[in-house]
Amino acid sequence: MPAAALLSDRVDLARVPADVLGLCERLRSHGKRAWIVGGCVRDLLLDREVSDWDVATDARPDALLQIFPRAMPTGIAHGTITVVKDGRHYEVTTLRGEGTYSDGRHPDWVKFVDDITADLARRDFTVNAIALDPLDGRILDPFGGRADLDKGLLRAVGDPLQRFAEDGLRPLRAARFVASLDLTLDKATEDAISPTLDTYRKVASERVRDEWMKTMKAPAPSRAFEVMRRTGLLQVTCPELLEGVGVTQNKWHAYDVWRHGMECMDACPPDPILRVAALLHDVGKPRTRAWSEKVGDVTFYDHDRVGAEIAEPIAARLRFSNDDRSRIVSLVRFHLFHYSVDWTDAAVRRWIRRVGPDRVEDLYALNEADVRAKGHDFEPDLEALARLKAHAARVLAEGAALSTRDLKINGHDLMQALDVSPGRIVGEILDALLDAVTNDPVKNEHDALLACAREYLARRGG
Ligand code: ATP
Ligand code: MG
Repeated sequence: MPAAALLSDRVDLARVPADVLGLCERLRSHGKRAWIVGGCVRDLLLDREVSDWDVATDARPDALLQIFPRAMPTGIAHGTITVVKDGRHYEVTTLRGEGTYSDGRHPDWVKFVDDITADLARRDFTVNAIALDPLDGRILDPFGGRADLDKGLLRAVGDPLQRFAEDGLRPLRAARFVASLDLTLDKATEDAISPTLDTYRKVASERVRDEWMKTMKAPAPSRAFEVMRRTGLLQVTCPELLEGVGVTQNKWHAYDVWRHGMECMDACPPDPILRVAALLHDVGKPRTRAWSEKVGDVTFYDHDRVGAEIAEPIAARLRFSNDDRSRIVSLVRFHLFHYSVDWTDAAVRRWIRRVGPDRVEDLYALNEADVRAKGHDFEPDLEALARLKAHAARVLAEGAALSTRDLKINGHDLMQALDVSPGRIVGEILDALLDAVTNDPVKNEHDALLACAREYLARRGG
């Protein structure tokens, strides 16, 4: 923690982009005041990379539009414009206090104010309610955000119960900041989440998904998901995941199903969709857990298939795009594989075809995380994974046919040579040829394929 920056009441303005200082300067030349506010000040104080710069000003919206005539009026009703400089976007917002919230999502009215402290008071957490004066680098911190950053504490501005009852996104942002900024949630702030879940229930699924996506970029997203589990947020959004809490596993695992999912997600590279898949990969385990006399241990037969069936509606509910949904579901479906020395080249080709060539790299990453998340004795599994990677790389380098497009014959040739008419049968023959070539690549040659197709038709009786 950069204690020096937190204890000083000034920030070195050399760390603020010239464009941002220029915006503030322009407002000042029109007799207005300006401050740099919110997440960017917090990130500056933490010595973290700043993703977006926000400016607050006492200029009212109509004045803003005059001072920046080319700006986009992105949220002008709430006093926000977006100024674009060299392709970068900066939000400039009129100082405002907010009115009551009756829908748990938007304030019923917005009141423009002249006092920066009133503007900071409507912000969610003390660490997000710090302003920086671009004239002299002085910090304005009426709610003790710097002291909280120094203590590693995330605390609501004002009464947490009231703040969470106003806007249901805030508790989810709290969970995210715990993970992404490595903070501890202040007790009163955490205690305010459960009693205000009714407000959280009103948050649009898209916004929940966006928070999950941002959370997944944290070093250890499990810190956020533990907050969500403890407070009831996860019970609202994804109760299926809670089925794994306390579900003990077999001798290969050190952790229960829930904790294993957490460890697996954290062990994945910070690709948000991959991590969502990791979070869900064993969601089918609680419903498939059984005792096997034969094995002398618990088993989870079919948990990959059942898990994919559970993951699909979860991904739909969270409004993931079709591509993301299909990636999540197929990773859950195919996460389970145990490579061994008796896998032939044909077995490797069949595996690649089954999971889809585009999913192979994802599955390697997920498998490595899955293996590490068992909690013990993972070296042999990692070695097996390394051998599968090498074997698959060799098979792919040999130009294995993985889709019917890779066959040395196409549907048109087949229809002519075999005198069949267009229809489902053509696809059926191509699939049979691909199966044949997967087992024996030498057959991927025009005449051999044609012979194969004739045999197939004869066998099929068509
Ligand atoms: P990041 O950009 O890293 O996600 P941030 O804190 O900058 O984090 P933004 O969504 O960019 O988040 O919002 C900018 C600022 O606006 C916040 O720092 C906070 O002061 C305020 N803010 C954002 N969302 C809310 C909210 N739901 N309730 C109250 N204040 C909010
Ligand atoms: Mg921001």
